[in-house]
Parts: sequence; C-alpha cells; structure tokens
Amino acid sequence: MRPGKMIRQVLQSILKKPVTIMYPYEKLDMPDKFRGKLRYYPEKCIGCRLCIKDCPTGAIDIKKIGEKQFEAHIDLGRCIYCAQCVDSCPKKALEATKDVELAQLDDNKLKIIFHAAPHNPADK
Ligand code: SF4
Ligand code: SF4
Repeated sequence: MRPGKMIRQVLQSILKKPVTIMYPYEKLDMPDKFRGKLRYYPEKCIGCRLCIKDCPTGAIDIKKIGEKQFEAHIDLGRCIYCAQCVDSCPKKALEATKDVELAQLDDNKLKIIFHAAPHNPADK
C-alpha cells in the first residue's frame, strides 16, 4: 500500500465513531425484528397449544387455570429464541421482545410463569 493511501486510511479510522459500546453502561437498541425474551398476553390466549406443539425445544407450556384462563410456563434456559411459537400463535398471545438481558447464575430463575393480571412480575 502506498504511504499516502495508508495515512488517509489511518486518519479516516481515527475520525470514525467506535463500533463498540460501553456495555452495560450504554445500552444497544436492538433491531425491530430482534427475537429476545418472550412476552405472553394471557387475555388473548385460547389454550390451543399450537405453541407447545411447534416449539422445537419443549421450552413452553400453557396451563389452564380456570374457565378460559391460561398461564404460560416458559423456560428461558431451554428457549432458543426462534420465535416459532410467536409465528404459530393464531391469537398473537406471544411476542418476542428486544430484551436480551437474561443472564442468571440460577437456572430456576429462568423458569418463568406468566400469570394473568393483576400483577405479572415476570413480564417487563
Ligand atoms: S421461541 Fe422457539 S424455543 Fe423459545 S419457546 Fe418459542 S418456539 Fe420454543
Ligand atoms: S398458540 Fe397462542 S393461543 Fe394457542 S395456547 Fe399458545 S399462546 Fe395460547
């Protein structure tokens, strides 16, 4: 490479914004179609179990807890974030969020039960 071209490239690199970020102090905005932590909307669920049938890892279970009332049991440690369950759900009761901060030392904390209202601590 000619010295003039090399100097130009070095100067361009110095003036460029870094591609890395100071995570976790800075947050990266994930792309719109990113498949992160699942969210469940119990009020939309009809208990058809298609999400369970299509899940490749057995990470999701839907339990009937009353008349037309369901809750989702999702093991975020088994989930591979493929969002097949989201695509399979005919009622849009599942959604893939942009949440990526799921690291845990305790596996059990990744087993989440998404309850119906009034309070859903599992749902951010
Ligand atoms: S995202 Fe994929 S692996 Fe995770 S619960 Fe849904 S279908 Fe199963
Ligand atoms: S596919 Fe959707 S509506 Fe059917 S059980 Fe799963 S979450 Fe509920």
